[in-house]
Amino acid sequence: MDEDPYAAAAEAGIHRMAIPTPFAVGRVNVYLIEDDPLTLVDAGPNSGSSLDELQRQLAGHGHAIEDIELILITHQHIDHIGLVDIVASHSGAEVAAIDHLVPFVENYSEAAAQDDAFAMETMLRGGIPADVAQALASVSLAFRAWGARVSVGRTLREGDVVELRDRSLEVAFRPGHSPTDTVFHDRDRRMLIAGDHLIKHISSNPLISRPLEGDERPKALVTYLASLRATREMPARIVRPGHGEPIADHAALIDERFAMHERRADKILGLIERGPRTAYEIAQEMWGNVAVTQAYLTLSEVLGHVDLLIDDGRVGEEADGELVRFAAA
Ligand SMILES: [Zn+2]
Repeated sequence: MDEDPYAAAAEAGIHRMAIPTPFAVGRVNVYLIEDDPLTLVDAGPNSGSSLDELQRQLAGHGHAIEDIELILITHQHIDHIGLVDIVASHSGAEVAAIDHLVPFVENYSEAAAQDDAFAMETMLRGGIPADVAQALASVSLAFRAWGARVSVGRTLREGDVVELRDRSLEVAFRPGHSPTDTVFHDRDRRMLIAGDHLIKHISSNPLISRPLEGDERPKALVTYLASLRATREMPARIVRPGHGEPIADHAALIDERFAMHERRADKILGLIERGPRTAYEIAQEMWGNVAVTQAYLTLSEVLGHVDLLIDDGRVGEEADGELVRFAAA
């Protein structure tokens, strides 16, 4: 290897600030880009302790919240957007986000409520028992305050370039993990700021989310794999993710993810070939009785892989009232 990609990131004036969250994922990476304008990528969840920690870490780099001039948003999840509005209102920073994301964050409460209704419908169709679905809906409602509405001052589009004094960040839309994932590519430094699109230590679960455009049932994993294929072709030397450590060989990691999803789809096909099953039944056979809070994640995993099998013509869908079962084609 010609040079150390980690050193290159530090030299480029990008500092990772790991901010605590109340979620299973642990800390979220907020990036400070020392440039003109002084830029933050994401801001952490909406909580006093997260704000304290953000202030403390900014101070460690010689800055205050008030100094931030631009905030870029990677995607709609509350561990990333919750503090954006507070930071923007304290600093006067301009908030920039991709067009697909703007209606969601600007109407956060309504959007979150619609997401919960969509999730409830998805869980019941998937065969999750009503009491479990209800418990999950309560958890989601309790978490809603960790997000917050954001006013976006600058709408970005795929292919736009955000020009800072010392760098240019190309905007690319990479939906899948959420419907609004956006990555920022510094082509000169071959550095990609990727949010949760690619994470080193965990696969970025492509959550089944309410479609933000149109009303077709979203195929999150199909969409996600297409996004990964596009990212794989990018000449990045280092990827800076929304959680965990930097990624030095993104193509190899993406290939691992492709192989993992293929194995998982094959395993799920094996179960479906034994007889028609709901997504919830498949999830239980795959992972046993997981914690209630993980039930939507595992349901999303199953539905994502079943979508791959449906697209390949290997599995079909059978409706039984509200319930959907999957059967070998
Ligand atoms: Zn996320």
